[in-house]
Amino acid sequence: MKRINLLGSTGSIGLQTLDVAREHGYKIEALTAYSNVDIIENQIREFKPEYAALVDEKAANDLKQRVKDLPVKILSGIEGVSFCASEAKGDITLNSVVGMAGLKPTLDAINAGKTIALANKETLVAGGKLVTDAAKKNNVAILPVDSEHSAIFQCLLGSPRNHALKRIVLTASGGPFFGKTKDELEKVTLADALKHPSWSMGQKITIDSATMFNKGLELIEAVWLFDVSPDMIDIVVHRESIVHSLIEYSDNSVIAQLGHPDMRLPIQFAITYPDRFPSPEKQLDLWEIGNLSFYKPDYETFPCMDICRNAIKKGGLYPAAVNCANEEANLLFRQGKISFTDIPRLISEAAEYTENKPDYTLDDVYNTDSLMREKVRELANV
Ligand code: NAD
Ligand code: MG
Repeated sequence: MKRINLLGSTGSIGLQTLDVAREHGYKIEALTAYSNVDIIENQIREFKPEYAALVDEKAANDLKQRVKDLPVKILSGIEGVSFCASEAKGDITLNSVVGMAGLKPTLDAINAGKTIALANKETLVAGGKLVTDAAKKNNVAILPVDSEHSAIFQCLLGSPRNHALKRIVLTASGGPFFGKTKDELEKVTLADALKHPSWSMGQKITIDSATMFNKGLELIEAVWLFDVSPDMIDIVVHRESIVHSLIEYSDNSVIAQLGHPDMRLPIQFAITYPDRFPSPEKQLDLWEIGNLSFYKPDYETFPCMDICRNAIKKGGLYPAAVNCANEEANLLFRQGKISFTDIPRLISEAAEYTENKPDYTLDDVYNTDSLMREKVRELANV
């Protein structure tokens, strides 16, 4: 039986991971979240983990009172999340925290020898070198949960030699603003940006999908997960979100993975790999789907893809810088403090202040985070 430490259990991926666990009877050893006491209390009562943690101290104290009747140990702070990631009894730590707050718990889990199922892409973008070096040193596997990377991972299975890989093609839904002009984007609202055409997700990633920063993050994520150069990665807009990504071999043979847009499949495969089991995902009916369409991305109207591509090409702390600047700009947009088109502008302007170091430490990443957040707020006058 699989045993899981689940980080970010109250979010979109967290809830769907628990659907998968319920379906297959996996043991949940730890649950963590930021502050949602109601949801995590119900999860503790259902899944009976040994540990649970809330980052927010006050919420953690409230939770402790509420579950006094149970043997669960309640922890708090980001140290509590790290403890759940690394010391709880799961063989797999599934990280579905949002943002680079997930970086430290991921490193702690890897250093404790846990297999990582990673939804938290900001971790690989902000600290790709730290995470992949630690994984190599500890001989730990990082299994992708992000649907595109799960698709690539699945396409590569059975590949005799990785060096025959010529190209990775990431598919993108194009988000709610596909086909819009720069001028039209000036006027879009938060409510417009939250209307994703094919996926139901947390708010931060939904805004990242609208700006296409999400695809830029995924490009960097693919560089680290599959050890390829950024130039080997192309992006194609595919509105139906049925083809989850493709790979091309040196003989021009292209392999793709298809399925309905349902995160439970990549979540389940990251947990069951290398085995496969029946999943709640609806069977694919190509007659019903009929047509699949593909378009070239509009890099001018949606500059975030190139912002990320250039950051990973520069290397060092640049990916961390654009990620952290985006986390702040994305938040300011959700708070109604800046406009949609301010997001790419603020990220580019703030990233100019990055002091690059090719061989960075975790502290360098945190310092970059503080600097970028400060610069974005300063440049936005908020
Ligand atoms: P969400 O906002 O729905 O959930 C985030 C979870 O993280 C919650 O449980 C929250 O309590 C917790 N959290 C928030 N801030 C935290 C902090 N500072 N420290 C510790 N925990 C914190 O987000 P989501 O949509 O589930 O996305 C989670 C991650 O998975 C993101 O990195 C996202 O890019 C990635 N992802 C999501 C989807 C999706 O369909 N939702 C698909 C692919 C990848
Ligand atoms: Mg994705």
